[in-house]
Amino acid sequence: MLSAMLRHAVVLASPRGPVRVEAAALPEPGPGEAAVRLEACGLCHSELFVAGLEKLPLAPLILGHEGIGRVTSVGPGVEHVRPGDRVGITFLASTCGACDLCRHGLERYCPRQRNAGYTLHGALTTEAVAPAQHLVRVPEALDASLAAPLCCAGWTAYGALTTASLRPGQSVAIFGMGGLGHLALQYARHLGMRTAAADVSPEKLAHARELGAEVALPAETASRTLQKEHGGMDAAIVLTGNAAAVEQAFRSVKRTGTVVLVGLSSSQYQLPLVDTVLKGICVRGSYLGTRADLEAVLHLAAAGIVRPRVSRHALEEAPAVLERLRLGQIPGRAVIVF
Ligand SMILES: [Zn+2]
Ligand SMILES: [Zn+2]
Repeated sequence: MLSAMLRHAVVLASPRGPVRVEAAALPEPGPGEAAVRLEACGLCHSELFVAGLEKLPLAPLILGHEGIGRVTSVGPGVEHVRPGDRVGITFLASTCGACDLCRHGLERYCPRQRNAGYTLHGALTTEAVAPAQHLVRVPEALDASLAAPLCCAGWTAYGALTTASLRPGQSVAIFGMGGLGHLALQYARHLGMRTAAADVSPEKLAHARELGAEVALPAETASRTLQKEHGGMDAAIVLTGNAAAVEQAFRSVKRTGTVVLVGLSSSQYQLPLVDTVLKGICVRGSYLGTRADLEAVLHLAAAGIVRPRVSRHALEEAPAVLERLRLGQIPGRAVIVF
């Protein structure tokens, strides 16, 4: 009998269980799947969200959905990627391709989607097996550790801005200057928007100023300053899952402004009905982006126009780095380099 192939992976043992680096079985790619040898994978805040869920669709579960690597083999029926191709593994592992949303460019909202590092094993592993359907081509010139954060953080940040539908010259306040926020700020500037950054961390606000934010404000009082001194914002994007930040964002937009919610948590925010109705405020959720958005963020990084701020770590450090992420101590994005 053949001995099973093994890989080393960041594994969530059980719902709310410990996160460990351990050996796990490596299956052969099945129909529609590709095997990918990873170069790098980012650590996303959603890892903590998944690790905190009471129920998991799959346990033990290999986490990770910001993987950059090279295809080593493909299963039956896979035509659009080949061994040797450099690809990205994102949270959107597969979609049905047939529902209304899939047919109209909104496949990220497909109710039958499968997700890397959640309903399927993810990319925080030396070798991954993933559906080939949504693997994205990654430019050869782009360093893997810089490309990794684009597969979720960059994509999501860019998608939130396109969801806000702003024109050049309009203003946007970005709440949360972490892994997503520092990229959202760069995209907003590239798209010609006027930018305000808000965070609770003075260090992250200093980074926002370095990146060219016109205004950088403590999150607790940002709305008052943005209304009084800047006449309110055309849009506010909330990248944290913090209800107080949602409140500040809601209060920072001008009449007919848009609030885009991105950060996930189990907390709740009570929508003020009078202001929402009489000021015509739009509150929208946003999740990932379109495939074209993902290609755009990879291009902007390959061209040196937007640069993710990353710290690089060995696989064994992943559990400790996730703990620091929980405490808000990671500047930019932490990336595991294999
Ligand atoms: Zn993510
Ligand atoms: Zn669908």
